[in-house]
Amino acid sequence: MASLILPRARASLPLFLLVGHLSRPISSPSPSRSASNRRFSSGPVPPQLKNVGFIGVGNMGSHMANNLIKAGYTLSVHDISISVNNSVSSRFCFWYRDSNVLEKFSKMGICTAKTSYEIIESSDVVITMLPSTSHVMDVYTGPNGFLNGQNALRPWLFIDSSTVDPLTSRSISATVSKSILKEKKGHGDHPVMLDAPVSGGVNGAEAGTLTFMVGGPEEAYLAAQPLFLSMGKVSIYCGGSGNGVAAKICNNLAMAVSMAGVSEAYALGQSLGITAKTLAKIFNSSSARCWSSSDSYNPVPGIMEGVPSSRNYEGGFSCKLMAKDLGLASAAAQEVGFRSPLTSQLYEIYMETCGKGHSGKDFSCIFRHHYAGKDEK
Ligand code: NAD
Repeated sequence: MASLILPRARASLPLFLLVGHLSRPISSPSPSRSASNRRFSSGPVPPQLKNVGFIGVGNMGSHMANNLIKAGYTLSVHDISISVNNSVSSRFCFWYRDSNVLEKFSKMGICTAKTSYEIIESSDVVITMLPSTSHVMDVYTGPNGFLNGQNALRPWLFIDSSTVDPLTSRSISATVSKSILKEKKGHGDHPVMLDAPVSGGVNGAEAGTLTFMVGGPEEAYLAAQPLFLSMGKVSIYCGGSGNGVAAKICNNLAMAVSMAGVSEAYALGQSLGITAKTLAKIFNSSSARCWSSSDSYNPVPGIMEGVPSSRNYEGGFSCKLMAKDLGLASAAAQEVGFRSPLTSQLYEIYMETCGKGHSGKDFSCIFRHHYAGKDEK
């Protein structure tokens, strides 16, 4: 099946547990809904996948785990609190270390495991939400990774929601499928893995409105639906293993290209004596209309309220995450011999913007910090 979109079912479930709001910084490009007002309606918890192990409870994962608890799953969580020192992690290190997160889970009666092995032992399904490819490799196939040890027993389903490179994801998935199943619970004979990165940012993770892009065996995708719809509003099946992360990096590449195009055009217009306000009216009623130019995410301060450009580019989707995703897109393009000049150029623009000290600012700040565009009065 090329593409299958399943929105959340309407029928609502009684809440298993009302969990307090875990406050975290950073918002996202998508509109948010208050988590406390949210009614969970993902359908019944499948008994074969009731015990969920969650590894990586950072900015995104803490909220996603929280939403699974609210939907009635039995959670065990694990996170490390010391930085892994290698080239990729240090370059894109965006650890948000709230040492209280595990404590908060523990106070809620949630099992906080000391190692990922403990998670494997107690879970029907393991979800990972880690910073980057190197961390995912560490956790799955590294020297202390839980796929190490040929005879160790594994649960049936692994879901990696981290944004990583598609080839690594495919290779880990192949290793998962060669490991031995702990207990047959009505699914296949071997463990399986889904790559299921998300869009929607921290606000979407908190509100449970994420979009999941999923690659891997379709049977596993269908079985995992109730989990996805407990954490998000939509899931889209993208085909075989690695296609979820491929879709994610293509989506963010398109988003970066449109943001750079609109920012460049506004800044050029200002240099030619046209105000961005006038240009915005023209773009939004003509062929340049798009998400970055219209009513969602204008990058020029002074044009729109309630977007990162109106608050000094605070909140939103950070330049460092955009640089990371463009780096993944660029590497993936090279691996398959695809020429992608815009990807490479945008990667450089975002790396340069991060280098100038704006790595935590929203990605629309290239209007100001790369194109030297001016605020509108
Ligand atoms: P984060 O750094 O806040 O959280 C990652 C967590 O993983 C951290 O708490 C860290 O301690 C933990 N971790 C790292 N290595 C570990 C290991 N070996 N064992 C156990 N835990 C480990 O990152 P995040 O913002 O939550 O993002 C997670 C993923 O989601 C990334 O791949 C990111 O690209 C993607 N993503 C993020 C956003 C966003 O707005 N933050 C949006 C969409 C997708």
